Amino acid sequence: MLLERKIAVITGAASERGIGKAVAALFARHGAKVAIVDLDLESSRGAAADIGDEHIGYSCDVADHSQCAETVHQIVESFGGIDILVNVAGVTQPLKALEIGPDDFDRVTAVNLKGTFNMSQAAIPSMQDRGMGSIICISSVSAQRGGGIFGGAHYSASKAGVLGLARALARELAQWRIRVNCVAPGLIQTDITKGKMTDELKKHIISGIPLGRLGIPLDVAKACLFLASELSEYITGTVINVNGGMQIQ
Ligand code: NAD
Repeated sequence: MLLERKIAVITGAASERGIGKAVAALFARHGAKVAIVDLDLESSRGAAADIGDEHIGYSCDVADHSQCAETVHQIVESFGGIDILVNVAGVTQPLKALEIGPDDFDRVTAVNLKGTFNMSQAAIPSMQDRGMGSIICISSVSAQRGGGIFGGAHYSASKAGVLGLARALARELAQWRIRVNCVAPGLIQTDITKGKMTDELKKHIISGIPLGRLGIPLDVAKACLFLASELSEYITGTVINVNGGMQIQ
């Protein structure tokens, strides 16, 4: 048990086959009490019930600053505080540069980048009160290699923004022993690409992965568990690449 008595907030964790739900399930198995934050209340509550009795689902659009503040307030009231925040909520759009409209750019940035900031800002005071914390932000290999996998340039930009945001927060928050790190997944089999990924494209992508397969949500969840736990207590401001060697730096 690596997270006994820890309170973990995980955004974007209601999607049945998603990365967030896998993180929530693994954290629960390691003793954490989990707050699942996603757009739809019933789905969030269902996901919380799936992983055990002590967990609670909340509805919140992470792009909305005041909804994040209100949701975190409710979480702190119910659980007594926050030790871990995993910013998983994200959206992508497989658009070419000339197809990206202003609303597309705004929405992708608002959820992926501003949403990560909104939830972090809301959770930080509780971590400061506790004198420690771990914030984990999900970036993407697209941020490092210049896209070309699935999302458009606006998606890559938002995920590169997450890397910079996490590094700055890591430096600023270390004085309270709040660690901030990123996980950058390669292509992980979830619903985010549902109906938008051809077999041909999948085969092409796998041919560029040294470990010879696409990732699964549990691959990402294991890296998050390491960053959430005391195993990584001297690690902040870093990125763990979970990509099968697709991008070796
Ligand atoms: P998913 O679509 O299965 O899950 C995303 C979740 O985020 C959903 O539950 C959705 O409802 C939620 N969400 C979307 N907008 C939200 C908002 N405004 N507020 C709150 N919740 C919101 O996708 P996934 O593949 O599990 O992706 C999870 C994260 O991992 C995303 O940030 C994604 O960009 C990132 N990522 C995924 C891959 C991949 O290949 N699947 C690769 C790199 C990075």
